[in-house]
Amino acid sequence: MQPEVAADVARLEPAASVAPGHTLRLHVFASGSRGNATVVEDATTGAGVLVDCGICKRDFFTRCDEAGFDPAHLAAILVTHDHTDHTKGLGVVLRGLAKEGVEPVVYVDDAVRAASSELNTLEGKHDLRPLHAGDALSLAGMSVHAFRTSHDAASSCGFRFEAADGDVVGFVTDTGIVTGEAHEGLTGARLLALESNHDVQMLKDGPYPYPVKRRVGSDVGHLSNVQAAEELAALLSAKLEQVVAMHISQNNNTYRLPVDTLSAVIKREGHTACVQAAYQSMLVSVS
Ligand SMILES: [Zn+2]
Ligand SMILES: [Zn+2]
Repeated sequence: MQPEVAADVARLEPAASVAPGHTLRLHVFASGSRGNATVVEDATTGAGVLVDCGICKRDFFTRCDEAGFDPAHLAAILVTHDHTDHTKGLGVVLRGLAKEGVEPVVYVDDAVRAASSELNTLEGKHDLRPLHAGDALSLAGMSVHAFRTSHDAASSCGFRFEAADGDVVGFVTDTGIVTGEAHEGLTGARLLALESNHDVQMLKDGPYPYPVKRRVGSDVGHLSNVQAAEELAALLSAKLEQVVAMHISQNNNTYRLPVDTLSAVIKREGHTACVQAAYQSMLVSVS
């Protein structure tokens, strides 16, 4: 059953109590090659932004319900890139939201829009606006900064979400390397969604054909557990509290390996941040 959706987005009630510097919440609805969707919510207003929509309508509304996120408060959808695991649910979810009177703006890079048949079908039916790396958007009470990632897509980006009180969520998936601008965008995050796609040895020994193995492990593929750990070591700050390992491969990784690898770095550096895995079909929320 779909959650009840309030008709008036403007009637946002402030949450009962949010500790200063702890304004943002990260709800990973789905993460992995079969579908991706994540909501970043500003708990002071309950307003949020959806990053990617590669899940079906039923899963989207179920995860909203489980996360305690009211989809009537969805201000915008950001599309990282044109691969279908990030876009295939856009049409059905937007239609489901429209039925409830909710019409989030969709921000997407022009090249991604041109390359995606899913986005092409939305032309003229929904409010699509251009997204450029380097852009700073004001969405759902947050400042949202897009940065370029390194992936074999028409164009691809990650995001930095910053609340009015300085609380930061860093988000990066689907990147073969962490670019300088991505590192900058992730710096100072309290909540960090960081791709940890594969174990290098499992990828090497695994079932994929050689060209696919080469692509996944390349500079325009996906971050390995070791690459994620190296980036995490460079991002450890006094502010960092929670790390969510994203886009974990079901063929070339386990759900435990990224957590162990990233936790080892945190322990080695004497830090206290917590790590957990994001799943393909189970909600993970951190706040
Ligand atoms: Zn992907
Ligand atoms: Zn991709």
